[in-house]
Amino acid sequence: MDAAHYDLVVLGGGPAGEKAAAQAAYWGKRVALVDQAPQLGGAMSGGVVSSKTMREAALYLTGFRRRDVYDVSLDLTPEVATDHLRRRTDAVVQMMVDRATENMRRHGVDRVHGRAALGPGRSVVVHAPGEEATTLTAEVIIITTGSRPFHPPGIPFDDPDVLDSDAAALLDHPLRSLVVVGGGAVGCEFASIFTALGADVVLVDSGTRLLPFMDAEISEELTSVFRGMGMRVVQGAGRARASRAAAGLQVELATGETLHPEKVIFAAGRAGNTEGLELEAAAVATDERGRIVVDEHFRTTAEGIYAAGDVIGPPALGSVSMEQARVAACWAFDIPLKRAVDSLPPFGVYSVPEVAMVGLTEEAAAAQGIAHAAGRARFNANTRASISGATEGMVKLVFARDDATVLGVHVLGEGATELVHLGQALIHFGGTIDYFIDTTFNVPTMSEAFKYAAYDGLRQIGR
Ligand SMILES: Cc1cc2nc3c(=O)[nH]c(=O)nc-3n(C[C@H](O)[C@H](O)[C@H](O)COP(=O)(O)OP(=O)(O)OC[C@H]3O[C@@H](n4cnc5c(N)ncnc54)[C@H](O)[C@@H]3O)c2cc1C
Repeated sequence: MDAAHYDLVVLGGGPAGEKAAAQAAYWGKRVALVDQAPQLGGAMSGGVVSSKTMREAALYLTGFRRRDVYDVSLDLTPEVATDHLRRRTDAVVQMMVDRATENMRRHGVDRVHGRAALGPGRSVVVHAPGEEATTLTAEVIIITTGSRPFHPPGIPFDDPDVLDSDAAALLDHPLRSLVVVGGGAVGCEFASIFTALGADVVLVDSGTRLLPFMDAEISEELTSVFRGMGMRVVQGAGRARASRAAAGLQVELATGETLHPEKVIFAAGRAGNTEGLELEAAAVATDERGRIVVDEHFRTTAEGIYAAGDVIGPPALGSVSMEQARVAACWAFDIPLKRAVDSLPPFGVYSVPEVAMVGLTEEAAAAQGIAHAAGRARFNANTRASISGATEGMVKLVFARDDATVLGVHVLGEGATELVHLGQALIHFGGTIDYFIDTTFNVPTMSEAFKYAAYDGLRQIGR
């Protein structure tokens, strides 16, 4: 039988694959999307949506933000809370999968189920369980096979109480105690969510500060907020190991301390899904870490084959992966739309409380030799934050000393991942802190903190 021929075959139906397929199909291309999973969504329908819904549900069900304000306990029993939380998470994940499925249907994209590999010429061989292999041919192939949790050697992930980030997102019963290894975004998210849910949590990090890519002052403040919530944060703790002893699960820290939690989550980064794709035979080069090498147009080293998303490496964010995939499709078919990925993406961490940033940290500004200053406004002086009982954190503006151009915006606190976009727009348009001084804000709002951070900035430079 002749192979089915397409303008585009996309390998992987996560957020990157979905957006690449939709972008090309919208411009009239005949597209097939292959995924080995029965449903679309990739890590977005696994880790991302699960962990964010878990977070929202945990805050809502435990009354975490407001119990101090109203001086009443809204706590549910952990069993009831977790049961509600699981059901709510499942419903949101299903809604997200349905939305992606409908998006592909609406764009006329053919869905193909099975494990894909590159074949000779520009072809893709698909193996579905119990079926004969099928071959698709294409003018263009985009690889968006994503990533999976990295498993540090020697850790017994076959033990049901030793979890990676994917398995952690599926937890369906309350925990008394938990150790989270890894002080990056995913580690901070799980550690703070389970602290909010009432577990005794120890967050163990080999580095000297949590979220090392964030502004140092913000990550130090986050650490102290975590400690104030009752979480134990152990830093500079070297590599942790887990094992099963007669007394149960044990986690040994390089400091010599042994912990005995109910479960341990290793949040140790991601590894690209490139095995079995037959990249070498297709002349698609990978780097020393196995990530697919691409140029600024997301072209691999093989003619007509592109790659985008987690499979090409950092920053390994759904937000950026989708943009990369759209840009790849635009270059592949000369679509006059997106020619480059935004050079200033925001970073958001959905811990309790949230953290977000865009642009330069103070350390990065100093390293670039930019004379800079910073203005801060704390949420404990913000009316809306007081009304909501979410007074931790601050807005911090990093700006150039000479002309007050905003270089970086950092937010720690409730709604940080939304608030940061205000700073993002200003940076994109080359604005100064005067914008916040001159503009009228709704009151009471959390956004008002930008105005007071700007006033503080003026004070710092004596204007
Ligand atoms: C716990 C957690 C929280 C996160 N939180 C955020 C967040 O808050 N914000 C954010 O922006 N990002 C977040 N991320 C990162 C985000 O999930 C990823 O960056 C994003 O999913 C990458 O998209 P992708 O399409 O490149 O790959 P993936 O989502 O990994 O999708 C790849 C798809 O390819 C399929 N596939 C793989 N190999 C094959 C093959 N050989 N044949 C056929 N199909 C194949 C897989 O089944 C999968 O469906 C989080 C990740 C985790 C784990």
